[in-house]
Amino acid sequence: MSNVIQTNKVVSLAYTLRLANGEVVDYSEAGEPLEYLHGASNIIPGLEAELSGLKSGDKKEVVVKPADGYGEHNPELIEVMDIAELPKGMPLQVGMEVDFSDEDENVDTAVVKAISGSQITFDFNHPLAGETLHFSVEVIDVRDATAEEIAHGHPHSLGGEFEDEFDEEYDDDEDYEYDDEDEDFEDEDDFEEEDDDSYRKN
Ligand code: ZN
Repeated sequence: MSNVIQTNKVVSLAYTLRLANGEVVDYSEAGEPLEYLHGASNIIPGLEAELSGLKSGDKKEVVVKPADGYGEHNPELIEVMDIAELPKGMPLQVGMEVDFSDEDENVDTAVVKAISGSQITFDFNHPLAGETLHFSVEVIDVRDATAEEIAHGHPHSLGGEFEDEFDEEYDDDEDYEYDDEDEDFEDEDDFEEEDDDSYRKN
């Protein structure tokens, strides 16, 4: 039973994520499976629940409704700002992702939805909000978590560099994974001073 996915197991997972229209939006690179601690909300609940009981070598197609994934699209998270409210020199383009930080250094990512004169429309919903997610998964490995991993709520097995990044990711926001670029800025005012790392473009 030791290689069966259950709470406090570290799982290595190869996956491809498609939208309902078949578009691939995320996948694990060959030989670089996603590692997560089962039962610790490292991954979206709809996927985690469907992986319980699988074992190494198992493959599964998992369909996750928005409510069990990144949530429904919330129209209240669409905000129109005047360009004067934004840091000067911030390049803006429809489809671009922009990271905003508050005083507590919480990062909120928004997508530029529209630009009309000086009015910029931002959508603060997760880019996958409202989407039904189709995962093709293969369980690569299942092992017991260490006491430290259980205490931290995430796996440590990929070495020091990954551990630090991972620790920061999950300390910052437990809801979903950030790219490490997201950790580069402290507050909104820094946009002016920082270089291109200050925001992400698609
Ligand atoms: Zn840790």
